[in-house]
Amino acid sequence: MPPKPASTRRQRLQVDRALVAVAAFHRRFDPRAALAADPLRFAHRYADPDDRALVALLSALMAFGRIATIGQKLEDLCLRLGPRPAMVLRDDDRAALHERLRGFKHRTFRGADVADLLFALGEDLRREGRVLAALERAWDEHHELRAALGQWVHGLRAAAWPGGADRAQSHLLPDPSGPSASKRLMLFLRWVVRRSGVDLGLSSIPASALLMPVDVHVHRIARNLGFTARTDASWRTAEEITAALRGLSADDPVQYDFALCHLGISGRCPSSNKLPERCEGCALRTVCVHWR
Ligand code: SF4
Repeated sequence: MPPKPASTRRQRLQVDRALVAVAAFHRRFDPRAALAADPLRFAHRYADPDDRALVALLSALMAFGRIATIGQKLEDLCLRLGPRPAMVLRDDDRAALHERLRGFKHRTFRGADVADLLFALGEDLRREGRVLAALERAWDEHHELRAALGQWVHGLRAAAWPGGADRAQSHLLPDPSGPSASKRLMLFLRWVVRRSGVDLGLSSIPASALLMPVDVHVHRIARNLGFTARTDASWRTAEEITAALRGLSADDPVQYDFALCHLGISGRCPSSNKLPERCEGCALRTVCVHWR
């Protein structure tokens, strides 16, 4: 076998060093403190697994824009859906859901579109008995994340918008077969699949199948650490970052997402080395492209 090029060996060495630093960073991270500022906190308010799964899905889909605004919008949605949101889905018809969501808006997401999506989820719930049953059935058929997620999303879209989804509806419930990293869907999966830390452990899908939710923060930090050189927040980029993190945990590579994304959300990670005071004390500093 020919020797590996020096650049590849250097990249491998950098990734190995960065993984050691990420493991130390992750050990020191306090997930309970970060949960207080995270959209996942809304699902933790409920005891029933279907309520948790439903609120987790809405929280992930609304996780777009300023973190304070996302919290306000989720507070509003939770009030509209009452103490047992999954029961509302079982009982309300499409017109009743539209009435509940009347006047709701978050960026491009309209109350009527959210109501249609809730109606589709309610159809699933009445037919299958659980919010996540159709997604898990798709996983059992495909044993491949993108195909399973695609089948679930296409089924929901067909029930929500039988005439086809318009631009805003397609943005509300993205199609994972497209090139994007589908960050909000990956975030939802992390929350409902992983069984430790703050995540909810509601699904039989294995954590080893998950991909990192790649938002602007995770993408930037992963580039800083050498986990990817790609400049687009694409599915391929999510695969590269996840593949690097499998070097730490093949069974659960996305366990590092919460710590890494909150480094970005907190505003402590600058996008360059022009604010060196913010990097003081960062456990990733020795392996970060701005300082190594
Ligand atoms: S050293 Fe600074 S730029 Fe690098 S990951 Fe840490 S906070 Fe971000």
